[in-house]
Formats: sequence, C-alpha cells, structure tokens
Amino acid sequence: MPVFNEAEQIFANVCVVRDLLESRAIEHQILLVDDGSRDQTWDEISRLCETYSNISALRFSRNFGKESAICAALERCTGDAVIIMDADLQHPPELMVEMERLWREEGYDVVEGVKADRGKESVATKLSAGLFYGLFKKMTDIDIGVASDFKLLDRKVIDAWRKLPERDTFFRGMSAWLGFRRIQIPFTVQQRTTGRSKWTPRSLTGLAVNAITAYTSAPLYVVAFLGIALMVFAFVLLVQTLIMKFLGGASTGFTTVIIIQLLIGSCVMLSLGIIGIYLARIYEETKRRPRYVISDMQRQALLDS
Ligand code: UDP
Ligand code: MG
Repeated sequence: MPVFNEAEQIFANVCVVRDLLESRAIEHQILLVDDGSRDQTWDEISRLCETYSNISALRFSRNFGKESAICAALERCTGDAVIIMDADLQHPPELMVEMERLWREEGYDVVEGVKADRGKESVATKLSAGLFYGLFKKMTDIDIGVASDFKLLDRKVIDAWRKLPERDTFFRGMSAWLGFRRIQIPFTVQQRTTGRSKWTPRSLTGLAVNAITAYTSAPLYVVAFLGIALMVFAFVLLVQTLIMKFLGGASTGFTTVIIIQLLIGSCVMLSLGIIGIYLARIYEETKRRPRYVISDMQRQALLDS
C-alpha cells in the first residue's frame, strides 16, 4: 500500500485488511510504503509494525509520488502474488478474496480491479479524466478509463515488471503492456472516510503527461503529421495566391496573412513543446537517478531478490 498523509485512518484501515485476510485464512504479509508523509503517518505505521509481526514498512525521504511508492513495493515485495491497493480503503478489501481465488483456482496471472463507476467526483475531474482517457485510448489502443491501481499480480508478472529499465513509470499502463493471462473484476469506488484526495490539478496533469510519454511516442508522430498537413495547406494557398497574382486580382489580404502567421506560429510552438517534453524525459532517464530514496525501514522491509 502506498501511504501519504493518512495518519488518521491508516491504523484502522490496515487492521480491516488484516482481519479480513486472517478470517479467510489467506497467508499474507503487508508492506506499507510511506511516501514522505508530513503528518503522524510514520508513527502510526511503526505502531502497526510493532503490533503485528507480518507488517513491514518503508519510509521515503520525501514525497516521491504514488507511482514511486508502488515501484518500491513491487521491487521489494516477496510472496507468490501481490495485491496493490490504496490505503484509504477506497479499493474495497473484500475484493481481495475474490482476486486471490481467481489467481489460485483459475490460474490468472493478473487480476485487475476496474471501476464500475468512478464514485463521487467533481465535474472538472470527470471531464479531465474523460479527456485524458479518450486521448490515451486513441494513442495506445488501451482503455485505461476504468483501470485502477488495485491489482493482483503473480510472481512472474512482478519479475517481468522488475526487468523494465525505465525510471518514470505508469503502473496501470505498464501492467497492461506486460500482457499475461488477465481478468478484470469491477468494483465500486468507496467514499473516503477521512482526509481528502492527495491529487491536485497540477500533480494529476503531471501524471497524465507522464502516462502518455512513458507509454507512447504518438504525440511525436502527430507533430510530424501536423507538419505535413500544414505543408499541403501552404501549397494550396501558394497556388491560389500565384493564380490571383497573375490574373491581376491579388487582394490586399492582410487578414489572411495574420491568421496564417498565428496558425503556423502556434503549431510550431506546440510541436516544439511536445518535442521538448520528450527531450526532457530522455534527459531525466539518462541521469539514472533512483526512483526514490528510503530514509527508514521497519523489519528491513522484505526484498528477496
Ligand atoms: N498516495 C501516495 N503518494 C502521493 C499521493 C497519494 O502514496 O503523493 C497514496 C494515498 O495515500 C492513497 C493512494 O495513494 O493510499 C491514493 O491516493 P488518493 O486517495 O489521494 O487518490 P484518489 O483516491 O483520489 O485517486
Ligand atoms: Mg483515494
């Protein structure tokens, strides 16, 4: 579980998950990744680790983001299968039982929780999520509109995931890219009991850009396509202008010039921007910085490879 500023509820929530797994006799370990919380979260997590011997935890030196927290968990987890879930119980824990059954009895390697409905969200969130998922689907052919990070992964999927070398990740997209025998089970997103969502419009935009660039280079092709389209347009206009000139009917055409200037100018800027984003990503990747920095550990936080 990635955990960020969840001090009020983390103890109770982990107990809910633990009790459920115990009651179904599902053998388990719980790994909590504190993503640089600024409240009492780490104290609460430490208390959990002291109380229960099968709970371990990592603490990041600062907030690296949920993606990094998931990476840390996948890199260090042990066991035959792993379930990633939110710490705020918006991912219903009861579903874990069904996930485990599908994995154990029916041999699925990936069991994905998909959102049957997206719970209570503001109009702005609905719209921007809709726009993003639409774009993403266009570019990658994958419908992650209902996808969530709530997934069960078999050991071999995790091993394959660990071999992906990139630093910037998008868990939902990458686990889809890996393939394997997969099945989706729908769930209803629960209301948050306390606290509020940690996403800000800024961090969500970052995640969206990350998701697209980590997963597809389609925008770069769009830039090239745009260039070709503009060239065709320019050629047509060129012919028309020349004909007008030779027929002696060349108009003053100042408005046209301004419009074309603006159009081409904005296309060039947009294209440069898109290329710049990819360039920045290459730059970030070549620095080969770690995805996160660990500052504390409870029970040396697993790690078996
Ligand atoms: N989270 C995290 N790092 C962050 C933001 C969130 O580890 O920078 C965790 C958070 O504690 C929760 C999960 O990611 O367990 C989902 O976050 P949140 O509930 O804020 O997002 P939402 O449910 O609105 O998508
Ligand atoms: Mg949540």
